[in-house]
Amino acid sequence: MQIKKIKGIIIKETYYKESSKILTILTKEYGKIGVLSKGCRNIKNKLRIVSTKLTYGIFDIYYKEDGLSLLVDVEILDELKSIKNDLSKIGYLTYLLDLASQVMENYNNEEVFNILESAILKINSSFDPMIITNIVEIKYLSFLGVLPVLDKCSKCGKTTDLITINADAGGYLCKDCYNQEYIVDIKTIKLIKMFYYVDISKIKELNITDKNKYEINEFLENYYNQYTGLYLKSKNFLNQINTELFQNK
Ligand SMILES: [Zn+2]
Repeated sequence: MQIKKIKGIIIKETYYKESSKILTILTKEYGKIGVLSKGCRNIKNKLRIVSTKLTYGIFDIYYKEDGLSLLVDVEILDELKSIKNDLSKIGYLTYLLDLASQVMENYNNEEVFNILESAILKINSSFDPMIITNIVEIKYLSFLGVLPVLDKCSKCGKTTDLITINADAGGYLCKDCYNQEYIVDIKTIKLIKMFYYVDISKIKELNITDKNKYEINEFLENYYNQYTGLYLKSKNFLNQINTELFQNK
């Protein structure tokens, strides 16, 4: 019997027979996998606590390529307490897991997992969850094959006089191609490009104004709606939470 140590995070748990669960785990090396956690619903079972959604750790798995793999043990890497204690952060995490899971279906590589993992850890250590999520979104656009052009005007290709970024146009617009679209702050233009290149795990601080933050978020929301073909329920849930939080302020 060959046991593999696999890094991952549980994104779904489904009851199986009287006392077990099938866990769906996003992993670094194997993409999305289903694993049987046998007997984990029994009170005394050692896998009971860890066989739940959002468990992040190293999973000892008896791995079968062509059948259901079996969970043997889990070493928790981080309990993600700061996220689990905050409804808004849970909303972001759920959306990110949903998104990463979709991206992995198109493009199963370690980079997709690495970006997700470093984003989760940053959100857990209290970096702005909307900004971190936006950084992930722009990076994932390249895996989805619809990255906007980030170095020139999306219409004429000119690299100077870029004055705004617009989802309908598919990216930047220069002053000659501009046709009454909303003009974003000059910093927003630069930040979107920086978001694409930044290594999330190396971020030490984020000095971004609310104006820039909301412009970037809005651009990405429109861009995702128009070009990715993804429809994620978790995104609606997230928007709902944010609207309620905003109203209660
Ligand atoms: Zn142009």
